[in-house]
Amino acid sequence: MTEKSSVEIFEENFAQIKKNIKIAAEKSGRSEKDIILLAATKTVDCETINYAINAGVKYIGENRVQEFLSKKDSLCECHRHFIGHLQTNKVKDIIEHVELIHSVDSVRLAREISKQSIKHNKTMDILLEVNIGAEESKSGFLEEELILAAEEISKLPSIRIRGLMAIPPVMESEGDNDKYFIKMKKLFIDIGSKKMDNSSIDILSMGMSDDYVAAIEAGSNLVRIGTALFGKRIYK
Ligand SMILES: *Cc1c(COP(=O)(O)O)cnc(C)c1O
Repeated sequence: MTEKSSVEIFEENFAQIKKNIKIAAEKSGRSEKDIILLAATKTVDCETINYAINAGVKYIGENRVQEFLSKKDSLCECHRHFIGHLQTNKVKDIIEHVELIHSVDSVRLAREISKQSIKHNKTMDILLEVNIGAEESKSGFLEEELILAAEEISKLPSIRIRGLMAIPPVMESEGDNDKYFIKMKKLFIDIGSKKMDNSSIDILSMGMSDDYVAAIEAGSNLVRIGTALFGKRIYK
C-alpha cells in the first residue's frame, strides 16, 4: 500500500473541514465568513501549500523562522502569519514578511517587535499568547498576568494588539478543552472592553485539528489547522 500524499489528503479533507467550520459558526450565531481558516504549514512543502492556496486557502501560518524564510519566496500570494515561538533576536528577520504574529509571549518580545516595526516603518499586528492551561512546558502569559502585560504592551509604538491566541493542553478525550476555550473567550471580551491604546481587539486564535469545532462553538474566529488538512507531519 502506498501512502497518500499531502495533496491527496488535502483534497479529501478541505471541503469537509470547511463544512464543519460553517456548522460550528452557525451554531454560535455566526457565519463561515466570520471564521478564518489558517493552514498551519510547518513541514509542508511549498508545492503542497501552493496547491492549497490555489484551492482557496487564504491564510498560512509558519512556526519556525528559518523554515518560513526558506519558503517565503516560493509561496503564492496569501496572508502570512507567524504562529510559533519567536526568539527576540529573530524578530528582525520576519518583521517585513508577516502580517500577524500570534505568539507574543513576553513584554520583552513585544518591545523588540515595536523597535523593529519602527525601523521598518510599519505597524505590526500581534496577538498575545495565553498559557491557558498554566502548563510548565508552554509559553504565553498566565491568565492572571495578561491584563497588566497587555496594558504595558499597548503603550509601545508601532504595534497593534489584535487579540489573543492559545494552545490548550493535549486532550485525553473530546470536550476536555471546552473549559479552556470558554476561559479564553472571557479573557478576549475582558481585554476588548479595556479599550487600550494601540489595540483593536478582534481576533481570537484558538482551535487546531482535534478541537477546532469546539473552539469555534466557544467563540474562536481563527482556527489553525495542520494535520487535518495535510496529514501527519514528517520531520526531516
Ligand atoms: C502545528 C500547529 C498548529 C496545527 O496543529 P495540528 O494539530 O496539526 O492542526 C496550530 N497552531 C500552532 C501554533 C502550531 O504550532
